[in-house]
Amino acid sequence: MGSVGNRGGGTSGIGMTSDRTRARMIERLRADGIRDEVVLSAMNAVPRHIFVDEALAIRAYDDSPLPIGHGQTISQPWVVARMTELARNGRALDGVLEIGTGCGYQTAVLAHLATTVYTIERIAALVNKARRHIQSLKIRNVRLAHGDGSADLGEAISVDAIIVSAGATHVPAPLLRHLKPGGRMVLPLASSEEGERGVQRLTVIEAASTGMREQTFDTVRFVPLLPGLG
Ligand code: SAH
Repeated sequence: MGSVGNRGGGTSGIGMTSDRTRARMIERLRADGIRDEVVLSAMNAVPRHIFVDEALAIRAYDDSPLPIGHGQTISQPWVVARMTELARNGRALDGVLEIGTGCGYQTAVLAHLATTVYTIERIAALVNKARRHIQSLKIRNVRLAHGDGSADLGEAISVDAIIVSAGATHVPAPLLRHLKPGGRMVLPLASSEEGERGVQRLTVIEAASTGMREQTFDTVRFVPLLPGLG
């Protein structure tokens, strides 16, 4: 067996091991209720082990969040799958906006099923880390930016879906104007009491013709959405 330190993917060590463990991760996601095969195949195409430190690569396909430095985490695979499934809602996605790039894992998954992914991260060191990961996978349809994604983006982008990857205590209203008609924002949203306990509910806000429609789904646990730059 090659060493875990081999991060090249492909043919040796963690590469071969990861193809099998990733296939098992997909089976587990299916068993845990993820139904969208387009999402599952995108997740099967992204080597999660290159997004975490070498010492954690062995745990990369466990269904759990892992630390990525700067007090942040890479989201649990089931949560990435569920949010992507809710964002897609069975539709093909043209533009997607992600708030909270972290190490870029969800970004890479989205890049496999959308035409263009815009992603914003407030911690500069993580923007650089995510950029390295995305480049190493030769993904070219991602626009990464350093900024506060809860504020007005000052850009005229219009997207089919917005995924907020950090826990909010209120809907980041400035983002809603970036949704196309019929577009969906998926975010972990907490009531003030839930927010204090660090838990949120996955919430979908859909730009329906009759106005914004809100639906609530699973309970999740995310690091907080914070204002300003980190
Ligand atoms: N999408 C990541 C999850 C990253 S964790 C994944 O695939 O694993 C959430 C990230 O949101 C952290 O990196 C944090 O720094 C970032 N974040 C928090 N508030 C933010 C804000 N207002 N704007 C942009 N990024 C933010």
